[in-house]
Amino acid sequence: MTETKIVLNNGVDMPAIGLGVFQTPPEATTDAVTEALRVGYRHIDTAAAYLNEREVGEGIRRSGIDRDDIFLETKVWISDYGYDATLHAFDKSAAKLGVERIDLLILHQALPSRFDLTLDAYRALEQLLADGKVRAIGVSNFMPEHLDGLLNATDVVPAVNQIELHPYFQQPAVQKADTEHGIVTQAWSPIGGITSYRDAPKSTFQDPTLLEIARQHGKSAAQVMLRWHLQHGRSVIPKSTKPARIAENFDVFDFELTREQIAAIDALDTGVRGGPDPDSITLETFGRDIPEA
Ligand code: NDP
Repeated sequence: MTETKIVLNNGVDMPAIGLGVFQTPPEATTDAVTEALRVGYRHIDTAAAYLNEREVGEGIRRSGIDRDDIFLETKVWISDYGYDATLHAFDKSAAKLGVERIDLLILHQALPSRFDLTLDAYRALEQLLADGKVRAIGVSNFMPEHLDGLLNATDVVPAVNQIELHPYFQQPAVQKADTEHGIVTQAWSPIGGITSYRDAPKSTFQDPTLLEIARQHGKSAAQVMLRWHLQHGRSVIPKSTKPARIAENFDVFDFELTREQIAAIDALDTGVRGGPDPDSITLETFGRDIPEA
């Protein structure tokens, strides 16, 4: 049976499934988080840029579950990159979340045109790790060349690289680079949400191959996609605000895809991303102020 936990490269356990809260409005976030924790999730993925960290913290407190039993992940936005600025970004996020320590703190994007700032931000994460303020550090949307640049200039190998990854966009080169360096690949838009809420030509939820595999197991296309990631050893952070879907997305530990079914899903890759090209991220185009706590 697939493990419910993934061991990171520094020995820290991370629950393989987390609840994502990108585009979850602040007023819906506390309920989504308490509902997820009620049905068994023990991992929440937010970001300073989602502007709902306060409500995530409130959901954790309201759940009544011991803080130490919940794996809390958040991200530093590019506007807070730089050594001192990123140390301060931790303070802002921790205060909004209402916690002393963050389990996994990651850089939300590389800034290819200001890689110096990206490196300074990562060095701040290394300091926070050394100080015990975070239990693990990582990156998001880092392409192999960004990983190489980071690994050549810093000491701590990221524990996680969170990237767009669903059946229609699988980024094999990034996955390979992650694996070679002992970095866990964490899939954002793991059920291809971005193929529905952005105007993509086709949505993963309507994919005939996925629907047929789902039928064979008496499961949904979303559950099949999540299972596919887990059997590949990846972490997933599906988002929903709807209680039934939050429960559905966690109910994936009682069936197993065959080798042929996994290969059929692997073959759905189109090579076309839904999100922004990581090389196009600049402070000028994507910068935004992250409020003080
Ligand atoms: P997901 O693949 O998680 O899909 C979410 C979408 O699918 C929502 O529209 C949701 O709607 C719907 N949905 C959820 N469950 C089901 C289901 N069982 N059946 C049918 N529809 C469903 O996409 P996201 O882009 O939200 O990615 C997940 C998380 O990844 C984010 O919340 C965030 O934490 C992270 N992320 C990180 C990024 C980065 O740059 N690092 C970028 C984007 C996302 P509804 O809520 O109405 O159920």
